[in-house]
Amino acid sequence: MRVPKKNCHPDRSEAKWRDLRLEARKRIYIAALLLFSPMTSAAKTSVQAALSSALRATSAVGIVVDVSSGQLLAAVKAAEATSQLSAPGSILKPLFLAAALEQREVLPQTTVFCRRSLHITDGTQEWNLACTHPQSNLAFAAREALAYSCNRYFAELADRIPPPQATEILEHFGLASLHPPQSREQKELLVLGVAGITVSTSQMASAYRKLAFQLNRAPAALDPVRQGLKDSVIYGMAHNAAVPGVEIAGKTGTASDAGKAWSHGWFAGTGYLGDEEVVIVIYLPRGNGADAARLAQHFFLATATQ
Ligand SMILES: [Zn+2]
Repeated sequence: MRVPKKNCHPDRSEAKWRDLRLEARKRIYIAALLLFSPMTSAAKTSVQAALSSALRATSAVGIVVDVSSGQLLAAVKAAEATSQLSAPGSILKPLFLAAALEQREVLPQTTVFCRRSLHITDGTQEWNLACTHPQSNLAFAAREALAYSCNRYFAELADRIPPPQATEILEHFGLASLHPPQSREQKELLVLGVAGITVSTSQMASAYRKLAFQLNRAPAALDPVRQGLKDSVIYGMAHNAAVPGVEIAGKTGTASDAGKAWSHGWFAGTGYLGDEEVVIVIYLPRGNGADAARLAQHFFLATATQ
């Protein structure tokens, strides 16, 4: 199997990246001191200031939650974070992959050949779900498929999941489909997060917190999810969220709601503020996942300067 090539940042020298990493580590150390106890109001104020700064002058909704305690550390547009429901797109992929690996419906080394094109027809509606990753004619295993958000891989993963299990997986993560999938095509659209389900920002924060718990205590079977989410930020579709020296794992999503001509973007993931792991979810109306990931990057950069 060919290994996808990593981005090599030809415009950035190694020395510049080393300096950036050193500077980021220095700032993180200071932030860690400030965040020695994530429960303190001073630490919460710092996280809130970072999120407010990152999302300033945008229409984005954002939430940051402490993984271990579940405490809400920061919110921007808190009302919309609960009330605004939109199609999740690809931020569902790690949830379904984790469940399918646990049930051994896919194995880490199971590969799916992708030519990038994907059309799914449900009734009179046709969906063009062509992959946006740069590679074509390539066999992806689980880890790379998640990092590159391969729609073909996840459509085939959907085919391996029995319909009742698809809704059970969502329920396990505190989510619900609008109706049980009635056909193979509806199940594929559900797993791809483009039809049959809407979610709120706060629901996704809870879901990713639960996923973080699973990954932190998980056996090797879930390595493709753990590593795929990191690779997604290091060189995959969520690369806009990357901050040198900071461990960030996450997933982007871009989708359109029924009847809407425009898309919206998501970033859902985890990162560390000092020793504390946090979940961050960004919802960007009239945007895309890459732009939402960029806002997450601004958040992590801002936490380092608070
Ligand atoms: Zn693909």
